[in-house]
Amino acid sequence: MPIDINIELSPYQAADPLQVKKVIASKLNLKVDQVGEYIITRKSIDARKAKIKVNIGVRVFRPEEPLFTDAPEFIYKDVRSAEPVVIVGAGPAGLFAGLKLLELGIRPIIVERGKQVSDRKRDIALLSRDHNLNPDSNYAFGEGGAGTFSDGKLYTRSKKRGDFKRVLFALHNHGADENIIYEAHPHIGTNKLPGVIVKIRETILEHGGQFLFNSRVESLIIKDDRARGIKLSDGQIVEGRAVILATGHSARDIYQSLINQGIQIEAKAFAMGVRVEHSQELIDHIQYHGTKRDEFLPASSYNLVHQVNGRGVYSFCMCPGGFIVPAATSPGEVVVNGMSPSQRNSLFANSGMVVEVRLEDIASYSKFGELAGLEYQHHLETLAAKHGEFGVKAPAQRLDDFVNGRFSNSLPICSYHLGTTSSAMHEWLPKDISIRLQEGFKEFGKKMRGFLTNDAIILGVESRTSSPVRIPRDPETLQHIKIKGLFPSGEGAGYAGGIVSSAVDGERSAEGVAKYLQLNFKSV
Ligand SMILES: Cc1cc2nc3c(=O)[nH]c(=O)nc-3n(C[C@H](O)[C@H](O)[C@H](O)COP(=O)(O)OP(=O)(O)OC[C@H]3O[C@@H](n4cnc5c(N)ncnc54)[C@H](O)[C@@H]3O)c2cc1C
Repeated sequence: MPIDINIELSPYQAADPLQVKKVIASKLNLKVDQVGEYIITRKSIDARKAKIKVNIGVRVFRPEEPLFTDAPEFIYKDVRSAEPVVIVGAGPAGLFAGLKLLELGIRPIIVERGKQVSDRKRDIALLSRDHNLNPDSNYAFGEGGAGTFSDGKLYTRSKKRGDFKRVLFALHNHGADENIIYEAHPHIGTNKLPGVIVKIRETILEHGGQFLFNSRVESLIIKDDRARGIKLSDGQIVEGRAVILATGHSARDIYQSLINQGIQIEAKAFAMGVRVEHSQELIDHIQYHGTKRDEFLPASSYNLVHQVNGRGVYSFCMCPGGFIVPAATSPGEVVVNGMSPSQRNSLFANSGMVVEVRLEDIASYSKFGELAGLEYQHHLETLAAKHGEFGVKAPAQRLDDFVNGRFSNSLPICSYHLGTTSSAMHEWLPKDISIRLQEGFKEFGKKMRGFLTNDAIILGVESRTSSPVRIPRDPETLQHIKIKGLFPSGEGAGYAGGIVSSAVDGERSAEGVAKYLQLNFKSV
């Protein structure tokens, strides 16, 4: 049986597995060769004193004792002659629904508006170089979905909904480092994610699943209130016994298409704000209390939250050693987000800083009905484009200038490749957002001395942190509340947020599909 212990190490010791083993051996009164493998179950850095300590929880195994006795078994069946089910979207929800369908002996046909990940990389490079946004192939759309070019943070707050560990094991089986399985705050990194996505595609293809890329779904095929397939923008029809709709929260055309087809959707609360960027050196200086970070310490991060006038103001998707990226999906909008390479080694630290938006906060948009939140998002994204110049530069302001309502006469350098334009963001952001952000930043400046500085920059707008729409589904069957055989899934359906929870939701949708097929077609 493995033993769980806590040990305290110097950053140097923590970075060297042999040193870790020596400390474990000493704590357990063993010789080093009597200690087998170990996994880190928890890790925190204590930088309260000048001498930084790394506190880790380790699960220690005896020599030759297997590491992962809890590793799930994935048995993918050959589904070449099985019932077909259409999955719309090759993001985490769609891909994990596809893998789960293979396990359940059902044939996934995954329809994706964007390109395979290698071609998508080219479009993203072109976006940086020529400022040309391809509305079907960008940071949000294409194989792997919105998280492909991201930090690849794999933590989820919702550990209740399904088996998130299964997702981590499946990612590891498809090429992600083993440490994602046991680290407290695992991340893959934008340089490694595409390779993992390709391997998932290969698994699905090898077992008889199918992918249709460059294939934008325009509408659903509904017969007798049952989903029976989809229609593509070129008129092609793809039939299936059921449809998993996993289009993410940026696919605004899909929401409109559902409304046009009389399929119920509803508006929901979401968040809106800006992305803030400091030098990584400054964040390290604050978090490591003045100790200079060496090669043994990770780029430091933060997690901030404060209530202002009844709404949460919080940091979101913090990317240490990362870059700010353009995440819009249509020309004429500016949307910012963040990503990091696996080494988290850029000179910058960025994070979304967003304010909770409830439906009563945007009552003037109620005329747009279910799309109220989407219209509000779109309005601010086009406003950002207008203030950012040429439709691609991001409007930006020095942080202290924003908080004190001053225009910035110059801007610091930042990691956003498409360029920034100085803009009085406190003037054009809705007061509900800007005042709360100003108050939030003041508070964060107290929590982290040095955070509120004019050397930091904010860019607008961080508008796609969560879905402003929900596609209501039955909590038991996971089908749409009115249309049988339609399984809204992932972030765009409003039931997940982030890579892991979307993937878990995709798996659950696939299980829902299997039950539906058994009940209605008795064929699985
Ligand atoms: C830059 C960036 C960084 C991020 N960083 C992280 C992170 O570090 N950690 C984390 O947990 N989350 C991160 N996220 C959020 C995360 O990516 C999403 O929560 C997650 O991808 C949602 O998964 P999904 O499968 O539900 O939807 P998506 O990933 O959005 O996938 C939906 C897919 O559907 C396709 N699609 C849309 N409409 C159609 C249509 N009409 N026809 C056919 N296909 C269609 C899209 O092209 C897309 O590929 C980040 C997001 C961005 C943009």
